[in-house]
Amino acid sequence: MTCGPPQQKQLFDSQPPAWELDDAEERLVARVVFADPPHGPLDYRVPESLRGCVEPGKRLMLPLGRSNRGVSGYCVAVERQPTVARSLKDVLSVLDAAPLIDLRMLELTDWIAETYLCPWGRVLESVVPAGVRAGAGTRRQTYLYVPTSVAARITQLQLPPKQAEALRCLLNSPDPLTVEELATAIGSTAAPIQGLRKKGLLREETRQVWGEREPAARIAPDDPPELNADQQHALEHVGAALSCGEQRTILLYGVTGSGKTEVYLRAIQEVIRRGQQAIVLVPEISLTPQTVTRFRSRLQHVAVLHSRLSNGERHWHWQRIARGEVNVVVGARSAIFAPTPRLGLVVLDEEHDGSFKQDTAPHYHARDVALRRTQALGVPLLLGSATPSLESWHRTLLGEYQRVDLPMRVMDRALPRVQTIDLRLKAHDRSSRGAISRPLHQGIAQALQGGGQVILLLNRRGFSTHIQCPGCGHVVRCPACDIALTHHRTDQKAVCHYCDYHQPAPDRCPKCQFDGLRYAGLGTQRLEAEVRARFPSATCLRMDSDTMRAAGSHERALDQFRRGAVQILLGTQMIAKGLDFPNVTLVGVIQADTALHLPDFRAAERTFQLVAQVAGRTGRGERGGHVLVQTFSPEHPAIRAAAQHDYLRFATDELMIRQQFHYPPYSRMIRAVVRGPQATTAARDIAAWADRMRIELERRKVEARVLGPSEAPIAKLRDKWRFHLLLQSLDGPGMLQGVRAATEAHKGEADVQRVVDVDPLDML
Ligand code: ADP
Ligand code: ZN
Repeated sequence: MTCGPPQQKQLFDSQPPAWELDDAEERLVARVVFADPPHGPLDYRVPESLRGCVEPGKRLMLPLGRSNRGVSGYCVAVERQPTVARSLKDVLSVLDAAPLIDLRMLELTDWIAETYLCPWGRVLESVVPAGVRAGAGTRRQTYLYVPTSVAARITQLQLPPKQAEALRCLLNSPDPLTVEELATAIGSTAAPIQGLRKKGLLREETRQVWGEREPAARIAPDDPPELNADQQHALEHVGAALSCGEQRTILLYGVTGSGKTEVYLRAIQEVIRRGQQAIVLVPEISLTPQTVTRFRSRLQHVAVLHSRLSNGERHWHWQRIARGEVNVVVGARSAIFAPTPRLGLVVLDEEHDGSFKQDTAPHYHARDVALRRTQALGVPLLLGSATPSLESWHRTLLGEYQRVDLPMRVMDRALPRVQTIDLRLKAHDRSSRGAISRPLHQGIAQALQGGGQVILLLNRRGFSTHIQCPGCGHVVRCPACDIALTHHRTDQKAVCHYCDYHQPAPDRCPKCQFDGLRYAGLGTQRLEAEVRARFPSATCLRMDSDTMRAAGSHERALDQFRRGAVQILLGTQMIAKGLDFPNVTLVGVIQADTALHLPDFRAAERTFQLVAQVAGRTGRGERGGHVLVQTFSPEHPAIRAAAQHDYLRFATDELMIRQQFHYPPYSRMIRAVVRGPQATTAARDIAAWADRMRIELERRKVEARVLGPSEAPIAKLRDKWRFHLLLQSLDGPGMLQGVRAATEAHKGEADVQRVVDVDPLDML
């Protein structure tokens, strides 16, 4: 393996050349971590032949175990050690020509490993995209050269005519040629070239080359609006943070439609003017062409990292970003790891969104990683939301974050009027049974009559949520997950929404044989049928993960709605976020309390966010708009506050509850999950693990509450039984140390998987 071209090194902080050993008594040692057990770190000797090639951030091939099988690992440090120390195995080879990540990113991944209790090698494996590791999208190409010694005596060589011609052709070619290209150039087969090779008159070199690629089309820039006073004020704050030379976090609390994105765009322009780069994180669902177009039309050299990129495309972006050719990276969670060499600003839009937390190891939260990364660089972090997470809000109260408000919508547009409809008053239902109450029906009819569009939110998919027997109360469940099956009407199936198990929908109760089986509950399919029956002349489109499976279907649906080809858009929370359609004059929430009673301390916060965000989808144009919220709990503080656009009230009330029960942000939490094919083994394992934790916490005098272990709310998933426990402590670092020690010491059962989730968002 050859080393990378020297200019590559300039991208990264250069280290003193550790391989220049002054002394025969020293040796060069590479510290290596592995993605799989044993995770390391382990030390290896760098043999003389590889000195100068081994660098932190590259992958190495290393002998592992008694059999010394070759395994690849990440080099995280190179250092000199006295040779007299214990003997070490030798590095076998170097796998990467240039480091995959720089020293700063290595440090960041080390922090993630420590903070989220995940082996460093595993973090690296998850941070460096598979396409980058595999060199995806590149081809290895072998080129021919004439060595200078041969070129010098070319006239003296006695060669057959075709061989002589090939040699002359190659010497005169401005570009390196492959065997095929040279053969074509001299109009022959490859035979004369092979002849030259055998005589040692040609040299070969293998290089990685990119396949051809379409450059991104430029979009005509549109005229930027003039900022209003609040936006100007917000921008000045960001400007001050850009100039102050130390890290600041600014929470831009702006109601829906207040022009937050406009502030991001101006701030990024300033960053680019300073010769730096910006990373913009948005929820995956917001990576719509609409968002992307907005960034592309105003800024140059924007790389968009979305989940549908191929490995090759991802690799291509990564290389361009690392070379500093990209001004702005827009992407979901993992874009926080974009290898920008001159990062000047990170923006997290919709910072409260749950998709910023990764639900597989490492269980990092992109907001916390962004905070760490910007702190290391001394550059600002800009968080934006109409419904900030209570974690971020709390930090503004503590003075750790600055808060800047955009309290008004742009152009003095009013926030929509929100009215709640009490579903318990069955009076509505007498004229018409179903999901849509009479006031909502009238609201829709009026909106359509006025030429407006309607959004209906129902946070459930399927035709009805569960199949229940009115005779005996039996609910049809998934045999693998113990979750109620959902009735899908189009294909008359009962489907498990966790593992995709399905069976024909029964028409008799499987338990008592009663034949009046009721399909209770309500799903988006049933809502669609009801809407079509009630408003037969209106065009209606359903958006949920069932109808939006095909690639691009999400974009096509939104495009139809934007063009006005669809009048009623109904769907799950997929339609609640980030969309900006001026012609929407009514938003209806079919049932605001679907998530309110889940076993999760954030249930109220989620409900507030959902209702407030979906309400923000209307009244964005000149025609105004209003919101109708159907609910069984109209007096619940979360729903009341959302109806009054009163985030402050909600945050104040909810923080009091969190403080009272020592929930985050007043404490740190860790969730541990054990899953296995046998309930008894999994239960035994988590009990022993929990005991270990108690011992280790006590030993460290860390005060922590251990809740459980107990069956997880989702007790069975994909044929695995699940048990969990929750730890809660004011001493986050102490708790982390205790859990780490307990996890290392815990031997446990063989047939189970253990998950540690630090600062968990998912409690089910
Ligand atoms: P948010 O991100 O807070 O929801 P946006 O930045 O998307 O708000 O702004 C909503 C709409 O208002 C967009 O169409 C945007 O172009 C427009 N807009 C933003 N700022 C202004 C302004 N100062 N004057 C007029 N229109 C504006
Ligand atoms: Zn299932």
